[in-house]
Amino acid sequence: MRLKIVQVGDPTLRLLARKLTPEQIVSEEIQRLIRDMRDTMRDAPGVGLAAPQVGLPLQVAVIEDREDYLKLIPSSELEERERKPIPFHVVINPKITAMTETKVEFFEGCLSLGGFSAVVPRLRKVKVEYLDELAREQVVEATGWYARILQHEIDHMQGNLYIDRMHSRTFMSLDNWNRSWKSKTIGEVRSALDPNQ
Ligand code: ZN
Repeated sequence: MRLKIVQVGDPTLRLLARKLTPEQIVSEEIQRLIRDMRDTMRDAPGVGLAAPQVGLPLQVAVIEDREDYLKLIPSSELEERERKPIPFHVVINPKITAMTETKVEFFEGCLSLGGFSAVVPRLRKVKVEYLDELAREQVVEATGWYARILQHEIDHMQGNLYIDRMHSRTFMSLDNWNRSWKSKTIGEVRSALDPNQ
């Protein structure tokens, strides 16, 4: 079933989401939620969706970066973003640790801020410990775009959105991004929109 994705201004997006117990994770209710979140993410389409975005303050997210999304993007862009296919998986009760102090800056969007984008600095490499959909402990070390997706989804569970971390003068409509900024470097975008940075 496709769920409704709430938009910025909905208070659920600003709550600290609750952790789930292993019993809750394997319950029919949460298993159904995971399937519905997967279908909703694919339908959007998006590469990640956190439960607060469907109005539920729970520490659950689904992530998937499909080969067929990447086919539409030039390979130079994929390389620059360190973006590779990520198989579907479920991230529950995550604990995130920085693996570097290096941050990288790219345009980022969110299904709960439909039609907008901004330049957001994110750590290039993180470690995440979490439970999967069968409540098994998992650890992942992620670099590049996958690290960005994890930081974005885990932010949702803490009540944070990319607008809290973005270079605010780069906030723009996707129409304007497509029209004027898509092919520019992040440095060019920032110096044009924020000349006093
Ligand atoms: Zn989001």
